Amino acid sequence: MPEFKIRIRTTRPVSKGEPLTIFYWMGHIGEHTQLRQETIRMKGFFRCECARCKDPTELGTYRSGIVCQNCRRNNVSGYFLPEDPLDIEPDAKWKCSSCRAIKLAGNISRQVEKFQERISKMHEEFGSDPEDDRFIEFCKSFITKTSGISLHPNHWVIQSAITAAGEYLMLHRQTTLSLDLSMYFIKYWKHLLSIQDVLTPGMTRAIYIIKEDAYLTLMVVPLRIGFQGFYWTTSGNKSIKILRWNLRQYSEVSLEDFVDLTVAAVK
Ligand SMILES: [Zn+2]
Ligand SMILES: [Zn+2]
Repeated sequence: MPEFKIRIRTTRPVSKGEPLTIFYWMGHIGEHTQLRQETIRMKGFFRCECARCKDPTELGTYRSGIVCQNCRRNNVSGYFLPEDPLDIEPDAKWKCSSCRAIKLAGNISRQVEKFQERISKMHEEFGSDPEDDRFIEFCKSFITKTSGISLHPNHWVIQSAITAAGEYLMLHRQTTLSLDLSMYFIKYWKHLLSIQDVLTPGMTRAIYIIKEDAYLTLMVVPLRIGFQGFYWTTSGNKSIKILRWNLRQYSEVSLEDFVDLTVAAVK
């Protein structure tokens, strides 16, 4: 009889007896419970009831949290969250975490869709012009005007604005990105990584994608501020190598290490 073995690697420490889970749906970097539930039900034909899906706060990240304006007027922090995150129907109830006010999921979705539409519209209009600053300016002001004001700072729509801005910079500003703008976005890459560290810890695909998006933006920094060791990139058509001048020789630095080093250097 042949002997079959399976080797499983976890992306974080697990305790004895703890069930092992996989990230069933890898499709989307800004995914959130409602979208994940819809997709898994449609494509996987089951209802995921993992700890993250069942938790209205998505493991404390408030990934879908909407600011309660009533609470905000009274200087109280309150966020609308689904009462039962597994109920994804439009008449499902979302409750304010502080004043207990209720909104319907359908209304919440419409509000969020409007934000999304604004990002897409601006992206379509100005997102392909390398000379035009309007898309980047829009993303910056979108983040400032919504973060903590209408959306939780960790909200996935804010994440999509950051990602869209990063993609624009990567496509059009590789050689002309200013240090200021780079520093500005590093703050947000760090923020995204901190959320993802909770949701998909370890060297998971989502974290890799964020780092991949981030690193071209980040490349500018070590070149300008010159912290210990230099980093070079030799860009072929697709692959970019990052080299570090250290101990009188160049060594290649992995993408992950590069992002970690750069992020750590910017305080
Ligand atoms: Zn789940
Ligand atoms: Zn409230």
